[in-house]
Amino acid sequence: MSEQIRALGLLSGGLDSTLAARVMQAQNVEVLGLHFSTGFCLADRHRILGNRSNPDKPYRNEALRAGADLKIPIEIIDIKDEYLPEVVLNPKFGYGSGMNPCIDCRIFMLQKTREIMEERGYHFVFTGEVLGQRPMSQRRPPLDDVAEESGLGRLLLRPLSARLLPESIPEERGWVDREKLFNISGRSRKKQMELANHFKIIDYPQPAGGCCSLPDENYARKLRDFLAHRGTDVTPDDMMLLKVGRHFRLSGDVKMVVSRDQGENTYLERFTQGRSEVWVDDFPSPLTLVEGQPTAIDLETACRITARYSDGRHERTVPVRWRSGESEGQLTVVPCQNDTELEALRI
Ligand code: SF4
Repeated sequence: MSEQIRALGLLSGGLDSTLAARVMQAQNVEVLGLHFSTGFCLADRHRILGNRSNPDKPYRNEALRAGADLKIPIEIIDIKDEYLPEVVLNPKFGYGSGMNPCIDCRIFMLQKTREIMEERGYHFVFTGEVLGQRPMSQRRPPLDDVAEESGLGRLLLRPLSARLLPESIPEERGWVDREKLFNISGRSRKKQMELANHFKIIDYPQPAGGCCSLPDENYARKLRDFLAHRGTDVTPDDMMLLKVGRHFRLSGDVKMVVSRDQGENTYLERFTQGRSEVWVDDFPSPLTLVEGQPTAIDLETACRITARYSDGRHERTVPVRWRSGESEGQLTVVPCQNDTELEALRI
């Protein structure tokens, strides 16, 4: 009997990684999908906030959904604690359009995957990467860098573009048939959609949505502001907090986050520890969190901005509640109506 070939695949649940896994299955390779949770996954935010564009459609984890559709097991691996200091704050290959260290990110995930491959006796690793699809990480030199620096070298197979790349060990050893792999390149998804039709894969997320906060310019701006004022004294909770709300910097060490709706109120309630809270009792109101040690002026500004985003925004004055540790109180303020003042503080 011939040996069962076993491979690990990075599975985001997007179309490319789903197809790569399906192509491996079609070659009788036993697949285990790995999904890395970085702390910057949009999925974390969606899990807490739900599906806000379509509340009737509940949130789902696309990696688990893809694994269920393909009938392959998925392991979710939490790398938050290492990922932030080692990858996001210190990328050897730099950032993409936002704060996305895509090349270092791929290297980091594939190093972890290689360790699992070696520990558990898998034969090789594959990904859904497509040559030329992404400007930073999927050009030829970075694809080579990722293979090299992850320690996988030619044990890393990219089934969707394999015939445009040098022969890998799985092909050379006949574990997979190179002729049944693909030569897809570029940003168009046309060939992937044809392949999805061929395999009858109909349920997959739209690529435009992305799955990571780091390339997003709004998120990147908040992260740069955070790092400029707090240095590298950052926790995964701090990063989670950057994903929601309107952010305003009141002074060097004081900033406020104002929720945008009830879902974000609930989200922010998870992060009140060590932060001051501001809200309005008399009208529907956002929850505002204030970080740092606010002065009396900072607190008044936080109350005025919170009142502006409450339903009492057109009142002459609004009573605003605040709580800071054991202390709490109320300030009656004129809601902030000055857009120029607001924009000057907005991060
Ligand atoms: S977009 Fe985010 S998760 Fe994807 S490779 Fe870049 S940094 Fe990593």
